[in-house]
Amino acid sequence: MNPHWTESGQNLTGPSGILELMDDLGNAIGRDDLCMLGGGNPAAIPELQAIWRERMRELLDHDTAGFDRMLNNYDTPIGRPAFIEALAGHLRRRYDWDIGPGNIAVTNGTQNGLFHLFNAIAEPGRPVLLPLCPEYIGYADLGLRGPSFVARRPAIELRGDHDFKYGIDFDALGLKGKPNEFAAVCLSRPTNPSGNVVTNAELARLSEQAAAAETPIVVDNAYGAPFPGIVFSDIEPTWDHNTILSLSLSKFGLPGTRTGILIADESVIQGMRAANAIANLATGNIGQELVTPLLESDRITELCRDVVRPFYESRAKQADLWLREAMDPNLPWRLHACEGSMFFWLWCDGLPISSAELYQRLKARGVLVVPGHYFFFGLGASGADWPHQHQCLRIHAAMPPDITQRGLGIIAEEVAKAYAG
Ligand code: PLP
Repeated sequence: MNPHWTESGQNLTGPSGILELMDDLGNAIGRDDLCMLGGGNPAAIPELQAIWRERMRELLDHDTAGFDRMLNNYDTPIGRPAFIEALAGHLRRRYDWDIGPGNIAVTNGTQNGLFHLFNAIAEPGRPVLLPLCPEYIGYADLGLRGPSFVARRPAIELRGDHDFKYGIDFDALGLKGKPNEFAAVCLSRPTNPSGNVVTNAELARLSEQAAAAETPIVVDNAYGAPFPGIVFSDIEPTWDHNTILSLSLSKFGLPGTRTGILIADESVIQGMRAANAIANLATGNIGQELVTPLLESDRITELCRDVVRPFYESRAKQADLWLREAMDPNLPWRLHACEGSMFFWLWCDGLPISSAELYQRLKARGVLVVPGHYFFFGLGASGADWPHQHQCLRIHAAMPPDITQRGLGIIAEEVAKAYAG
């Protein structure tokens, strides 16, 4: 057959960075010969795995009605009422937000929720503004009607010989005094790929400018607070009626359940409810059923604080030491401040080959990373003369230690070879 794809169909079915990334990830599973430092799988944290097993056993052996409810029913197109109530109660107790069940929509993963949201509000002529590029590769191809993101280059703060940090360049933002020009402002916090955490002050300033421009702000907390809490400093999430927060159970150890959550003004939630009914009928039940008791008891807070964050922080610190030991100190590489998420963001300044070529050389040696250029989209003309976007690699910092150490050693060798020409 030779399907006739419509224009939207071509956008949906054509090649994309996220497709390559997810293919690499899926194909690497079970391959012991590969150092998989590329994908976005959460680490296997034994304490969390024990909780999921225990809850499943409880459902099977003691709460058979709950087990049947989980498998036998379509729930509402916006999620399970018990989960939504439990989440609203948890957020009220923890942050004192003025939030009720009407402010919460469950989606089949954040990716799916943002696909509906961005296609409902954005299009190429009225795009979503990404204030700090590089940004999450998974947004790049969400627009069914074509590229629907405009991104800004960041301010770059150089720190010492081998470190750096991005910041929002408010002078370049172009949001002030432009009501409704953008469909939304969006950022991931912590940022995938760089591990940057936009500061409280930056976020407050951005939210203020977005509200003044009558533009909603989407804060994607896939790695952040309230869960999974993979943030290595004390930041608080904020919410108001101009903010759309997205949360996910994926990095809390449940990517297989495909559970995402949007927290927003009721008008947005009602739109997402309608979209979910059309596209999915209902949401997946399993993640919601597993996590509801942790929200009702507020145990989720201590799990994130005492188990998830320390796990990722200690893996990141160890990997940081290994990488710095392995890399040649005389070369001009820099590591982005790892303030959260699961990733290292390595910038090889002045590298004679592109990060895409470096990725291929690493792949040939059995090390999978993600070449950085995928995360630089929406820049238009401002990206044309910016070599930085071809000089970075995203490296998973929380895989099993032996894999990480071996992979980082090979990365250091290949970077040195590439600089040597
Ligand atoms: N947002 C960011 C920043 C991510 O890194 C990811 C996944 O890696 C997602 C959203 C999608 O998450 P989900 O598994 O909930 O669809």
